[in-house]
Amino acid sequence: MKVFYSDHFVLPLPEGHRFPMVKYSMLRERVAASGVCASGEMRVPRPVSDEEILRSHERGYLRRVVDGTLTRKEMRRIGFPWSERMVERSRRASGGTLGACFAALKDGFAANLAGGTHHAFADRGEGYCVFNDSAIAARAVQAEGLVERVVVIDTDVHQGNGTAAILHGDASIFTFSIHGAKNFPFHKEESDLDIALPDGADDGEFLDALEDGLEKALDRSGAQLAIYLAGADPYEDDRLGRLCVSKEGLAERDRLVLESCRERGIPVAVTMAGGYARDVEDTVDIHLRSIEKAATLLDLERGVAHG
Ligand SMILES: [Zn+2]
Repeated sequence: MKVFYSDHFVLPLPEGHRFPMVKYSMLRERVAASGVCASGEMRVPRPVSDEEILRSHERGYLRRVVDGTLTRKEMRRIGFPWSERMVERSRRASGGTLGACFAALKDGFAANLAGGTHHAFADRGEGYCVFNDSAIAARAVQAEGLVERVVVIDTDVHQGNGTAAILHGDASIFTFSIHGAKNFPFHKEESDLDIALPDGADDGEFLDALEDGLEKALDRSGAQLAIYLAGADPYEDDRLGRLCVSKEGLAERDRLVLESCRERGIPVAVTMAGGYARDVEDTVDIHLRSIEKAATLLDLERGVAHG
């Protein structure tokens, strides 16, 4: 399975910053060791171009990001200090989702070991998100004429508010977000389908709601491509999550999402989104299982195709 990584574009953070940057390199090492990629299948994505970004973001915002002229308030909202490397990393992380979409359309499944930056709006970033990779990638594959309809399946514990806002009124891209009702962002945007779960929702509650939402989203979207945000933060030991989903519950989530898409012949690009477990190894474990599940289904598909 083709997997895109950009962890070596390191964004310099001050000591003690709570963003778990290390998860990306740890995840790449675990994926490399796991054997899910043949040689040459782990790839560095190209950066997304201004033209691609401008299909989802305002020109003035892009210019301020590139020039480093965002206001202090805008930077505080993003949560990272500005640097040229922050800009490059943000372009590459979106490029990874774009690469995974193109690869998924060929192969059935592919993954970006970053991305899921769903709090980025057309005119601002927020919550560690600068550019909205899902919106950028969906519109890029549409612009190439490869697909008409896309579904974004966002299972990160935080609502995909930026994605919902950017794609509001765009009937060709269906947004589905399942998240904690009381989690950040406190003001929720309107996705095509939102499911807000109460604090402490456990495996059963989470999975029942997901199954129901997935069926609606896949029925209503008529999608030819899915972008799946496999956030690790609905996990019971996450520092920022308020739900109580176990690792097994999250593996079952992966199975539900990926198999439901496969049954309907919808290719899936898997992206990582958030994950802030007390022990970063837990976050990496959860992400790795999402990747492995997609790779297993891809093997099945190839097995069938090759008889
Ligand atoms: Zn999150």
